[in-house]
Amino acid sequence: MGRGSGPVTPILAVMTTPRRETRQVVVGRPPGPTVSVGGDAPVSVQSMTTTKTADVEGTLAQIYALAAAGCDIVRCTCNEEEAAEGLAQIVPRSPVPIIADIHFQYRLALAAMEAGVQGLRLNPGNIRKPAHIKAVAQEAKDRGLPIRIGVNAGSLDPDIAQQYGITPEALVASAQRELAHFAEVGFDDVKISVKASNVALMIDAYRLLSETVDYPLHLGVTEAGPPPAGLVKSTAGIATLLAEGIGDTIRFSLTADPVEEARAGRTLLEALGLRERRGLDLIACPSCGRAEVDVIKVAGDAMAALSELNIPLQVAVMGCVVNGPGEAREADLGIAAGRGRGHLFVKGQVVRVVPEAEMVDALVATAKQIMDEGIDAVIASADAGAAAEAEAVRVELITSQGVDANHDAEKIERIRELAAE
Ligand code: SF4
Repeated sequence: MGRGSGPVTPILAVMTTPRRETRQVVVGRPPGPTVSVGGDAPVSVQSMTTTKTADVEGTLAQIYALAAAGCDIVRCTCNEEEAAEGLAQIVPRSPVPIIADIHFQYRLALAAMEAGVQGLRLNPGNIRKPAHIKAVAQEAKDRGLPIRIGVNAGSLDPDIAQQYGITPEALVASAQRELAHFAEVGFDDVKISVKASNVALMIDAYRLLSETVDYPLHLGVTEAGPPPAGLVKSTAGIATLLAEGIGDTIRFSLTADPVEEARAGRTLLEALGLRERRGLDLIACPSCGRAEVDVIKVAGDAMAALSELNIPLQVAVMGCVVNGPGEAREADLGIAAGRGRGHLFVKGQVVRVVPEAEMVDALVATAKQIMDEGIDAVIASADAGAAAEAEAVRVELITSQGVDANHDAEKIERIRELAAE
């Protein structure tokens, strides 16, 4: 941002529900990458690599892509000795803390710690021998590393499943059993997740867990599947809990490129006002009978052009100048169409009018100008007559289309007639 600029609003609204108070766990140690989870730390985004961990270069490439997409912590499977060896080479070159995902073989947890990972995830459903659990916890304690107790409804300890069924109580009981083992060696550097693929079960399990313990909670709907259904299910579960103040770190588990998981997590936190917007937020009107342009195409072109700039602006693409600048007045920058022209507005004020074919180019140029000079300067340098021209077109469109271009009144009248029949 240039000097003397007006603010580019990073967060338009914030959650009003206070976050539940939790202990804080620190993943990583300076001078390496470090992320605090819980307490007053921002809610963090996690994802997991899909490469073979033994493929060091391929895994690092994915870790860098995840970090660029907004991922704060990355988990890698440590399912074999070669994976642990890979971790030893990956961790020193990673831009974010690395968590080793451990199932069944506690010795691989010990190997991963030796490799230098910044934390572990243990599944209490498949590492069940107390001696093994305590050996891992003791080693983590000695090294100052946190462990996530990663309970999964699909792989519960059989005797817990038998006693409680697949219920929120079972998921919480599994976490508590693991905590008891950890307590025997005095280890409590812990995060907990109680994931399920059933969204309602997952929500209730986390609610119960949050009433039971004050450890930081890692939220996720496990095996949510491919987008768009996977995105919807994950968002339904994670957002519901975050809106209640529950959750300290999140992961979208999608059957997709993990970069999509990171983007989704980041976008959700930004949408809820839990993290500052760090990239483009493109909003667009849904189009209607007043639209003077193909909104879907212009929005798509604008998204493609602006995404490359990686700028923290909210940009609006609106189908008409009748309502566009007003409806999107909170946007930093926007364009509205009218009579073959694009009306460029900044914080609701029309600053330039350009030919329709140049709408996207004008958006990009003005976005750059805002980043260089600031919003106030761009408004101050508005073209003389631009606002008056926009107003004239607005009046002309209302006059020619009438105030009811979408035929709302006709439809309402017809509905009333039907109701009266
Ligand atoms: S009134 Fe204009 S800005 Fe609003 S939806 Fe219709 S075309 Fe888009």
